[in-house]
Amino acid sequence: MTAEPLRMLVLGAHPDDAEFHAGGLISIYRRLGHDVKIVSVTNGAAGHHRLGADELAVVRNEEAQAVAALTGVTFDVWEFPDGRLQPTLDVRARIIREIRSFRPDLVLTHRTNDYHPDHRAVGQAVQDASYMVTVPLSVPDVPALRRDPVVAYMADLFTKPCPLVPDVVLDVSGEFDAIVGMLDCHESQVYQWLPYNRGIAEQVPEGAAERREWLAGWFAERPRAVADRFREALVAAYGPAGERIEFAEAYEISEYAAGLDQDQRDRLFPKSA
Ligand SMILES: [Zn+2]
Repeated sequence: MTAEPLRMLVLGAHPDDAEFHAGGLISIYRRLGHDVKIVSVTNGAAGHHRLGADELAVVRNEEAQAVAALTGVTFDVWEFPDGRLQPTLDVRARIIREIRSFRPDLVLTHRTNDYHPDHRAVGQAVQDASYMVTVPLSVPDVPALRRDPVVAYMADLFTKPCPLVPDVVLDVSGEFDAIVGMLDCHESQVYQWLPYNRGIAEQVPEGAAERREWLAGWFAERPRAVADRFREALVAAYGPAGERIEFAEAYEISEYAAGLDQDQRDRLFPKSA
């Protein structure tokens, strides 16, 4: 590993977004001894069919802290209301303060083409913050950075108005169990709300081991679809072995923050731990 640990900040809209979209890279970072901070910009208090908002906010923060205890990441859940996020000046200022004080080498966030309005709002607010973190009189209570970090968008599979362009692809097959372990902490989502929302609640088994196995099967579709979508880039990055990679993550580098040369790519996106 490098002498100085890297610092990665994942800005997601909801308490499980980082794990769903970047769990493999988070897992690699942690095993290499790098620092990872996950921020959920909203409190996650909209996504449930039985619990009320106040109770759900407490539950979702507890689930986030379970991920922190399991992996050694720092996990902050902010108080902006789930389902009603806008890329306001308040949200932008909070993100500028966060980037300036955590001083990440790499920031991950959502694209602004994504099905969930909160995801789009976070992506927009991070775009709006990217240059402004270097401007001292914008949010003057925290000293400005001299240089932007690298900002990367986590993969989604939406195609309009434009699909993700994969600047970086990662084989995360070896991280799969670790990702499922993180998602397993988000009980109210992966075993309750999301199966209910998708009409498959009756598929979720009772026991802890059985339901985790079910989760692995259900979640596997996502990184497998990413691998299939970006197969050409996987082959370019891994050679012929790229044809056989089962699970992948993909990232697009934001043009509004630092660029990524080959050295930085190898350093910030290590292929495995
Ligand atoms: Zn989300």
